[in-house]
Amino acid sequence: MLKNSKPISISKLITKISHQRIENSRNVLFLNLLVYALIAGAELTIGAADHSTALIADGQNNLTGIVSVIALIVGLTFSKRPSDDFHLEGHWQFESLAVFLAGLGMFLVGLVCVWEGITRTLAFFDGNYTAPLKGQAAYMAAISGISMLTLCWFNHFIAQKTQSSSLAASARDFLSDALTSTGTMLAIIGASWFGIHWIDPVAALLLGCFIIWNGCQILSTSAEKLSNGFSPQLRSEIIEKILTVSGVLDVMFVDGRYSGNNIIIEAEITLANDDSLAKSYRICKSIEQILQASLPVLYCCIQVKPAPKSASSHPQAIVWKPL
Ligand SMILES: [Zn+2]
Repeated sequence: MLKNSKPISISKLITKISHQRIENSRNVLFLNLLVYALIAGAELTIGAADHSTALIADGQNNLTGIVSVIALIVGLTFSKRPSDDFHLEGHWQFESLAVFLAGLGMFLVGLVCVWEGITRTLAFFDGNYTAPLKGQAAYMAAISGISMLTLCWFNHFIAQKTQSSSLAASARDFLSDALTSTGTMLAIIGASWFGIHWIDPVAALLLGCFIIWNGCQILSTSAEKLSNGFSPQLRSEIIEKILTVSGVLDVMFVDGRYSGNNIIIEAEITLANDDSLAKSYRICKSIEQILQASLPVLYCCIQVKPAPKSASSHPQAIVWKPL
């Protein structure tokens, strides 16, 4: 059987940093899982004891949070696996795939929320609306809302620091859950203390729309990565960085794509016509090093094009000279 004799020369340092980042993200996700389990368990127990349908619904919403956190943990666990004959670049894309699934889950939860909001509003106008009952269920919803908001902030903070897309997705999930819990709390307070019953269905409808929007944001960022999209702004920054490398006369094109949170660069550069093969290779390697200093570039695939004879003889074409 024909076997790939040599693996791609993927940066060991970038791989190590990525593994560390995944490990940290996974620890935060385990904390998220614990909080979700505790809050959902408490809400379902208190909701059942108090006969509060709103609190039970909120607990069920938090149960779906558990499912998406588990999906992210599984995705991160797979993405850490080293490259094999089937995945030469490694399994980084599993993280984007897990984020996509978490976004899809949120989108579906939002749809269910909107649907319930509509049916409850219709029931309200029909006059057969059953109010959420006891006021003390509001305290549980408040505790849930505050915990979710704290974790949203924490996840967002770590996601910004580590550029982890799974934690960013988790932070969005927590924000939706915090707002859902706040909505539930307002609905319970409004209905049981002030007798305003329309807050509950309207809150469900509005929150459903917000959860759908949030889910779509996660879906679009992960879909961009999965469909090999690359920011034009980052591309021009990369072109500028490549042009600073001595010996590079011009950059014909640069394209990048994501593998998880890591980047793979493809480029074509113009070098002087009389540059030796060894020198060309050295220039390509220094381009890779310069890019890796500021970006998580796994490897660069650079094609070299010799400059036309007339151009390379013009010294003014060379922007940077070797020191
Ligand atoms: Zn594989």
